[in-house]
Amino acid sequence: MKLSKRVRQLLPSVTLAASTKAKKLKAEGKDVLNLTVGEPDFATPKNIQQAAIQAITDGKASYYTPSAGIPELRQAVVEMIRREYGLDYEAKNVIVTDGAKYSLYLLFQAMLDIGDEVIIPVPYWVSYGEQVKLAEGTPIFISCLQENDFKVTVDQLEEVRTERTRLMILNSPSNPTGMIYTEDELRAIGNWAVQHDIMIVSDDIYGQLVYNGNTFTPLASVSEDIRRQTIIINGVSKSYAMTGWRIGYTIADEQLINAMNNIASHSTSNPTAVSQYAAVEALNGNQETVEEMRIAFEERLNTIYPKAAALPGFKLTKPQGAFYLFPDISETLTLCGYNNVTDWVDDLLEEAYVALVTGEGFGSENHIRISYASDLAVLEQAIERIAGFIEKKIRENN
Ligand SMILES: *Cc1c(COP(=O)(O)O)cnc(C)c1O
Repeated sequence: MKLSKRVRQLLPSVTLAASTKAKKLKAEGKDVLNLTVGEPDFATPKNIQQAAIQAITDGKASYYTPSAGIPELRQAVVEMIRREYGLDYEAKNVIVTDGAKYSLYLLFQAMLDIGDEVIIPVPYWVSYGEQVKLAEGTPIFISCLQENDFKVTVDQLEEVRTERTRLMILNSPSNPTGMIYTEDELRAIGNWAVQHDIMIVSDDIYGQLVYNGNTFTPLASVSEDIRRQTIIINGVSKSYAMTGWRIGYTIADEQLINAMNNIASHSTSNPTAVSQYAAVEALNGNQETVEEMRIAFEERLNTIYPKAAALPGFKLTKPQGAFYLFPDISETLTLCGYNNVTDWVDDLLEEAYVALVTGEGFGSENHIRISYASDLAVLEQAIERIAGFIEKKIRENN
């Protein structure tokens, strides 16, 4: 069968491949510790589950909804943004989609023509570049140094800017690095975007998962000019432990929302009705569980970060948000006698039963990503196994 050029150029998802391998070993009865996952390990809070059950028994979940989402949910997003960002939008500025991932997909489809350029700082979340390519745009990657906390600078942006630059992507707190841009950094980047009329896609999905006194400043809140230049992407997956429900949203100029809605109406029709009612409760209901989960992530980070940072050769910057560690392990590879991260990660899984993701899918081939969305006992055991694996390899290598 001949498949389209569009699909043949897609890269497979490394995170998915890694978790598939881990699951296979687990099915064979091996005691695998899986740190590949990009989702909270908590169950969706009870009040949200209950709202979904209520929507079903009330019969509200049986029917198509407006394709941009039910009015209550668009309004709940408006209220959430007023509460968390201090910004005033209207429901017409909001589209609810099947996860934040589909918001991004619709946005690129709605904004890009062939060859339009999208600047993507590296390391990046795996789907940005592939989605830009699906929209026939051209991803322009900029490598950001760990020495600069993996953040992009205006000088770097200016170096790659062309007449065809339409968008840039900003993900703070970042998956995979966990770093957060400061208000000053955001102002500099935002003013650059305003000056050159480049729209910034602000992927704020980890905005509520920040730790140890670090604060999340939404790009859109920095100034009125910058707000107009910003497309906000967010969703309930990460902060409310709702990855399986598939609810995300975009907040932007009405014209863009309508264009995205047009595509949505011809592709998914609407996000799943029951999930939308659950998301209304997530955004409007009691927010205590969000804080409880945040505290649990913070405790995990503070427990395993020093242990991971002490592993031989690990170069690790302490994350400020999200739920991943992203160490550069090139020195570890040398000590262990490996010449690439992929082989090391493969052997770690096969010999020590710890599953991680290589940095390759995030654009950084010297790094690994360790998710700490697992309970503390698992994390501590995983770090011990990694330490044992490294010691064994160093012995064998000498
Ligand atoms: C998880 C994630 C998303 C998408 O989440 P959805 O489940 O599709 O809402 C978007 N961006 C980043 C950086 C993520 O980690």
